[in-house]
Amino acid sequence: MKKILIGNWKMCDKSALDALHFLKDLPGAQKKDVRIAAPFTLIREMAGNSLKIRIGGQNMHSFGEGAFTGEISAKMLREAGADFVLLGHSERRHLLGETNEFIQGKVERALVEGLSFVLCVGETLEERESEETFDVIQTQLESAFDGISDDQLESCNALIAYEPVWAIGTGKSAEMDQIIKVHEFIKSKYDLPVLYGGSVNLENFQKLVGSRSIDGVLVGGASLGAATFSQMIQLLPEG
Ligand code: PEP
Repeated sequence: MKKILIGNWKMCDKSALDALHFLKDLPGAQKKDVRIAAPFTLIREMAGNSLKIRIGGQNMHSFGEGAFTGEISAKMLREAGADFVLLGHSERRHLLGETNEFIQGKVERALVEGLSFVLCVGETLEERESEETFDVIQTQLESAFDGISDDQLESCNALIAYEPVWAIGTGKSAEMDQIIKVHEFIKSKYDLPVLYGGSVNLENFQKLVGSRSIDGVLVGGASLGAATFSQMIQLLPEG
């Protein structure tokens, strides 16, 4: 299986022109599994790019349609050209109050609409320090996949991203042994690729993607600069 590199552009303020410029010069991307979770307003512009970089959304609602002002549906994402979506990102769980139940609804909706997704899970620092990491992750996974079969998950090419909350945007990546323990725990329960996210940068990139327990990385801040992202693509193992 190819290692996977996903950039999470969060609420960056790139214009459509900036985004197209970014996509112009990323040598080697065609041969690798590279994806960008873009702000909604850039998806249509970026989708179908010649580099074959897959473009996704960063969130969606669990309902197919309705009176949910400001929300976006799986169908709307697909219509804009997205072929995957991030679900349960910690910024949505912790800053916007998304619950495990809500995220389970989103997983179901993505499956109904045939939209691939990346389920993000991870513990807070407090939970790690009180030795609740594995319980928290198990609960997040079991809730999100409640009532959903392994076949359904595989058929939509679902991915799991382990992102310790304390490592996101802090410049403090988790240690390799901490990551590997959690990845092996997740892999013992689900036969899905598991990515790591949390302060991935050019210094720790190779070590992370070189590990057999890490199927790829989800990169936030460091994915915004074309030069850095381009170097990550070059360093991403092909197979
Ligand atoms: C993320 O947004 O999922 C993330 C991991 O961010 P950062 O790489 O900036 O820590």
